[in-house]
Amino acid sequence: MKPILGIAVDVPLRRLFDYRAPAGVDPACLQPGVRLWVPFGRRRVTGVLVETRSTSDLPDAKLKAAIAVIDEAPVLDAQLLELLRWAADYYRHAPGEVIAAALPAPLRSGQSALETEERWTLSAAARTGELPPLSPRAHRLRELVAVLEAQDAADAGTLAATSPRWRDHVRELEQRGWVLRLREPAARPTPRTHAVGAGPDPTPEQHRAIEAIAAAAGRHASFLLHGVTGSGKTEVYLRAIAEVVARGQQALVLVPEISLTPQLVSRFAARFDAPLAVLHSSLSDQERLRAWRAARSGEAPVVIGTRSAIFAPLAIPGLIVVDEEHDPSYKQQEGFRYSARDLALARAQRLGVPVVLGSATPSLESLERVAQGKAVLLELPARTAGARPPTIHLIDLRKHGATQGIATPTVMAIQRHLGAGGQVLLYLNRRGYAPTLFCPACGWSAPCPRCDARLTVHQRERRLHCHHCGTDQPVPELCPQCFEPAKPVGQGTERIEETLAKLFPDVPLERIDRDAVRRKGALEAALERVTSGAVRLLVGTQMLTKGHHFPDVTLVVVLNADQGLFGTDFRASERLAQTIVQVAGRAGRAERPGEVLIQTEYPEHPLLTQLTTGGYDAFATAALAERKAARWPPYARIAVLRAEASRREVPLEFLDRARELAEALAGQDVEVLGPATAPMERRAGLYHAQLLLHAPSHSPLQRLLARWLPAVEELPEARKVRWSLDVD
Ligand code: ADP
Ligand code: ZN
Ligand code: ZN
Repeated sequence: MKPILGIAVDVPLRRLFDYRAPAGVDPACLQPGVRLWVPFGRRRVTGVLVETRSTSDLPDAKLKAAIAVIDEAPVLDAQLLELLRWAADYYRHAPGEVIAAALPAPLRSGQSALETEERWTLSAAARTGELPPLSPRAHRLRELVAVLEAQDAADAGTLAATSPRWRDHVRELEQRGWVLRLREPAARPTPRTHAVGAGPDPTPEQHRAIEAIAAAAGRHASFLLHGVTGSGKTEVYLRAIAEVVARGQQALVLVPEISLTPQLVSRFAARFDAPLAVLHSSLSDQERLRAWRAARSGEAPVVIGTRSAIFAPLAIPGLIVVDEEHDPSYKQQEGFRYSARDLALARAQRLGVPVVLGSATPSLESLERVAQGKAVLLELPARTAGARPPTIHLIDLRKHGATQGIATPTVMAIQRHLGAGGQVLLYLNRRGYAPTLFCPACGWSAPCPRCDARLTVHQRERRLHCHHCGTDQPVPELCPQCFEPAKPVGQGTERIEETLAKLFPDVPLERIDRDAVRRKGALEAALERVTSGAVRLLVGTQMLTKGHHFPDVTLVVVLNADQGLFGTDFRASERLAQTIVQVAGRAGRAERPGEVLIQTEYPEHPLLTQLTTGGYDAFATAALAERKAARWPPYARIAVLRAEASRREVPLEFLDRARELAEALAGQDVEVLGPATAPMERRAGLYHAQLLLHAPSHSPLQRLLARWLPAVEELPEARKVRWSLDVD
């Protein structure tokens, strides 16, 4: 007999909470994964039963009983619950928050997990006339009773016909004991069909990849599908998924950002004659719940979603696909900091199903897994339809004048491509008009009052914005120090747009960045103007590097490669190489050969020479060798303890104490580095610092974290800071 319930509650504490079973409920009948209402402090909250235990550390008198059981069957099946417990452990995060990440909001607030239809019936007491009669003047209530007398039970549709305020009236009748609410599962959806739309015949390389994935059906295997943009990776996913669906199983597909790649979902929808469950951040709570239910019941054979869809419930899992696996958006950067890509590997292994990671620019971690024999490499070398890869050239900004950010040879190339009927795409990862407002007379530049950063000029709005904390101010007419005019200095996409409009006044131009496509539907409309050919010149940010097909673009210009060359993050150069290759991949997708120009002041930088001469593979080989020499991931494991507070010395004091604890616990294996102030120390008014743990492999790191974090939590200094741990 294990009478104690270990329950996960959505609070940032790294533990479960002990309760007794609700009165009249046999704890032996409760399955892990069911939700319960529990008293928590003065509140009543939902929790998820994680395990039952024989004893509790709490004295009997302090042990409270749960209030009620919500679910008959678990909302999280045993395997998913096990994955979540493992993730809480791996990332050292509060289990309640980890489990909450896997549940749509309505379920966290107690709504039924089943699709239910509300129905009402007269109570037995009302039918036998045991209740005091309703006042003759209560017309509305009497009318409802009359409707209910005529049938066994009525649904919302029927009752709504009596009055617009019918819910109030029904509630009144429920309170007086006249009416009971019934909840029943809604009618089952009609059985789905597996018809699959036709696609192009696979190339021999695609065929090999599809066969390899199909041969792994029913067991765990890990694949890295490496092919440049347009080489037909999506076609491989579609075929591999079609086989899974034909076997009556489900496929889970993770994508970086659905809002940026609307074509992808429609391509899936066109191929499968079955409902897709689509999970992403702009759904309403109820839409998300509906998709979650369709995934859980197995009604949706294909589940597509962004990062958090890795926690989607699956009735009959058969395959997991992670598209653009290198994309940073798979990493959750706040709260429960997890990597959906890494969890996809862990989940596929637990489920015993194949997992396919696809990319034109695989992460160094994934390439290393191939080298170690942990994943099978499937390559799609050639582009389909005989298209050739683009040629890449560097433009040396030190030699060539750059009128407002665009060098003369670049202007000539743009002219040439426009003249030949091509479209031109210019990429700059900086929105706004200019990154600085500068006073030439005294050297002042507009600072963010809350960050160690400068404010970005947004000319059209006449505002200064901080891109780190959201500070927003009008552009001052004059320098506040010397009262001379201040000038925008440097380039953002808004300014490039202005320059292009001057250089090419007759050429239709579109800017695509977060500011330009803020309104709902604006991105789709802008993309449509590009693909229809109405727009010939296109300037934009990171948004343009993701998945869009621009078949007529023949020239891609990277306006400034240098921002990423000297980044402080050890992954900065990997990100830059991926971005350049991804944006270059937008050129010459169809029959037209593409050209790529990269503007830089550092044309001898090895990253750029590797990319231009040997492509991404050459870069990756060199970068892996560098990581190995420096003992960085994937050849080591790291975790960062971050802290922030409103006074500079406070996070450093906390981290110093944390360091002492770590050194006392760490064996030979784990190195403790720091604390050091963060690369941007002051952000949004808080001072940031960090401590790095570095280990040769995961287990010594995990062993240390398991003993260290409980001690860190207990530090008196911990109460004076906001702190978090980031594993990997
Ligand atoms: P990726 O996902 O690698 O960018 P896609 O699968 O989107 O590549 O393929 C790029 C284009 O080539 C698409 O328009 C697709 O329909 C087409 N395509 C893919 N495979 C084939 C094939 N075997 N034969 C003809 N066209 C193909
Ligand atoms: Zn000045
Ligand atoms: Zn700021």
